[in-house]
Amino acid sequence: MKKYLLDLTNAQLKDALKHVIAQDYRINQISDWIYVKKAASFDGFTNISKDIREKLGEKFILRALKILKKEKSVIDGTIRYTFQTLDKKQFFAVFLPSKSKNSVCISSQTGCPVSCAFCSSGKTKFCRNLSRGEIIEQILQIENDAKEKIGGVLFMGMGEPMLNFNNLEQSLKVLLSNKEFGIGKRHITVSTVGIVPAIKKLADENYGVRLALSLHAVDEKQRRILIPNNLGFTIPEILNAGKYYLKKTNSRLTVEYILVKGINDSAADAHKLARLLRQNDLINPDVQANLIPFNPVNGVSFQTPAEESVQKFKNILKLSGLTSNIRQAKGADISAACGQLGY
Ligand code: SF4
Repeated sequence: MKKYLLDLTNAQLKDALKHVIAQDYRINQISDWIYVKKAASFDGFTNISKDIREKLGEKFILRALKILKKEKSVIDGTIRYTFQTLDKKQFFAVFLPSKSKNSVCISSQTGCPVSCAFCSSGKTKFCRNLSRGEIIEQILQIENDAKEKIGGVLFMGMGEPMLNFNNLEQSLKVLLSNKEFGIGKRHITVSTVGIVPAIKKLADENYGVRLALSLHAVDEKQRRILIPNNLGFTIPEILNAGKYYLKKTNSRLTVEYILVKGINDSAADAHKLARLLRQNDLINPDVQANLIPFNPVNGVSFQTPAEESVQKFKNILKLSGLTSNIRQAKGADISAACGQLGY
């Protein structure tokens, strides 16, 4: 059976290629074609002999994902991609163009086992974790298709990255390595609903990437409405893990807070959120709140709060010393905004 090259770690790649190529420097050239020059086919490895390229094609797969669908927003140029794996599983990724730095929002699983009540991905039946290669290939394919350089990666697409920890970690290593993607640690964000042991493990590994804690609620009752399957971790435990992450990595933390009308968007909620963060030493320049007005999702009866109440929420946080940012929905016309990545 052919091996999927992007699934192999550096050491595994060297080992696998030993049977095809004798010289070490050729192996380095191949790694360069895969991760630095990002060739989309073996034919593109132009300084490798035709003979070796043919052998590579016989033994390995370079691309395992197919772009099934591509939708571009007429509002802001955001592109939503539907990918299909070799075993016919589907998932999504989003290209977010920007004058300063293009980013991609990528998936870590097909479907999502967490099933947040506000999220379209959560309504999609969980199938499996994406492999190391399938995670990285999303970036390679989007870069190639959009013909744009990508400088930022958000693990915020379909799935809970911390439930696919090994492949998350493997892909972070490739993205951060200067010999491969070379993306700065400050330009990579891993989002989590709050899988406490995994947050601590990621902190201990100290890759220094940014962490986005999807808190979304100020008490357990609210959180159960928004994230019915909270995997057993309480708000204090999650905030404590966030504090641990900051201390260990010297990085930045974003507290993600989806604002749903009548559920968690009142002035009292804003005060309570500030209080919770203060109690956990999380009001400081390394912490920012991302306020995300709920984006409509088919079959979900939640409502988007009025602009004034979002602004009021932000002002209360500001008076409490917490910087916050109201996230503008990107690609809302193609269902590519936060929480809308589903079928
Ligand atoms: S918000 Fe994230 S964790 Fe929750 S269902 Fe959607 S993809 Fe899964």
